Amino acid sequence: MITHEKADFINPEEIERILAPRPRPAASRVRELLVKAREMQGLTIDEVACLSLVESPELLEEIFSTAKKLKEDIYGSRLVLFAPLYISNRCANECTYCAFRATNTNIKRRTLTQEEIAEETRILIRQGQKRVLVVSGEALPPQGFQYILDSIATVYDTKIGSGEIRRVNVNLAPQTTERFRLLKAANIGTFQLFQETYHRPTYASVHLKGAKRDYDWRTTAFDRAMEAGIDDVGIGVLFGLYDWRFEIMAMMQHIRHLEETFGVGPHTISFPRMEPALGSEVASQPPCPVSDSDFLKMVAIMRLAVPYTGMIMSTRETAAVRRATLELGISQISAGSRTDPGGYKDSEAGSNGGQFQLGDHRSIEEVVSDVVSLGFLPSFCTACYRMGRTGHDFMDLAKPGEIKYHCHPNALSTFQEYLSDYASPQAKAAGEKLISIELQNMDARQTACALPMLNKVRRGERDVFI
Ligand code: SAM
Ligand code: SF4
Repeated sequence: MITHEKADFINPEEIERILAPRPRPAASRVRELLVKAREMQGLTIDEVACLSLVESPELLEEIFSTAKKLKEDIYGSRLVLFAPLYISNRCANECTYCAFRATNTNIKRRTLTQEEIAEETRILIRQGQKRVLVVSGEALPPQGFQYILDSIATVYDTKIGSGEIRRVNVNLAPQTTERFRLLKAANIGTFQLFQETYHRPTYASVHLKGAKRDYDWRTTAFDRAMEAGIDDVGIGVLFGLYDWRFEIMAMMQHIRHLEETFGVGPHTISFPRMEPALGSEVASQPPCPVSDSDFLKMVAIMRLAVPYTGMIMSTRETAAVRRATLELGISQISAGSRTDPGGYKDSEAGSNGGQFQLGDHRSIEEVVSDVVSLGFLPSFCTACYRMGRTGHDFMDLAKPGEIKYHCHPNALSTFQEYLSDYASPQAKAAGEKLISIELQNMDARQTACALPMLNKVRRGERDVFI
């Protein structure tokens, strides 16, 4: 039994010590760290702190270009796409920054039925999505936890011809080990949970009611998930609640703890930045707002610090900020998102509203066209998780750069599937041009994998992966 009950692995004294006022790092020290990062060795907490203090435009540019090169070497041009699926906005907690908080009377409460979840899923399938993130507030309907399990099963079971959702990730309340076992048996991909803030006094001041007030229960959730056999966990902080430097250092402590205890760190890191939310003053005026330039710096530093961890950027951010972060290391983005239960169907009918205000309102087709024009290869791949390449196995494959012989061909075949089945003629032409450029840039071993797969998809076979 290795489960922790207290989050003693988050050590604020260590962070305060590292963050104590000190001179800006010398250029030679910064460059030394960039060489280390470039060799894909990652960075320590102290080294992350050092880079976070860099302000000189010249050194910042070097941080950005190193992050960019590292991303290209490990992930190539691939960019994985997904969409959130909100199933309920009922919540027993009182998080001051969230529109779903229990006492907020400004929103209409709704828990989707299984048929409504199937309807939302059908809309996402028709858009070409293959990965969904199921999201819920924290008040279960009378069926209890079974409602969550049924909802996951509904998403997997909903099909339109060969169109289907092949990976369901979840963003839910922290669970007991027993319930994590049930989620594992329900075939979830990643269990995603944002700590919101690692700073205990701030955590206490923004979580006023309900189970979420328990900082330790939340911070130790990944220990229970991993103990229950969920290899892929997704970490994150809600940026804007407390000093971003403190938060990324605490996140590094959390990652260190998972690596030391389970031999593997998180599968993904998300960077949710606080957005205005209906009925929330805190969300309109975050106590510690993160500027765009600090946000980009933070993304680049985390890319250098944990080179093999996927990094996610949601539609909270504007198209312009999202574009800038793609270069710096983001490997997954959401597209065409709605953050209210039933939002995909409702928006077809013209209405809107949600958990928070979105920065990027573009449809999946617009996002795909944009990333293609920037030279990124949209990927709808779900192979690793279905082949059991999760946790250690994924990292073992990723570390020697071997992943490009799996991920890149899989990205091409799933993108071809998207273009053949869902894209407009214009988007299809631009996408196929990108595929031919990608093929030209591949080495012989990659082409030998990718070409037969692409040909299969072009002949009508579906779900082709290695
Ligand atoms: N209820 C669960 C929880 O709190 O962990 C899961 C779902 S909750 C809807 C998902 C995430 O939305 C939260 O963890 C929080 O980080 C984020 N969120 C809440 N209010 C937000 C806001 N105003 N702007 C951006 N993200 C927000
Ligand atoms: Fe509920 Fe999650 Fe929103 Fe907090 S962040 S009010 S727990 S839905």
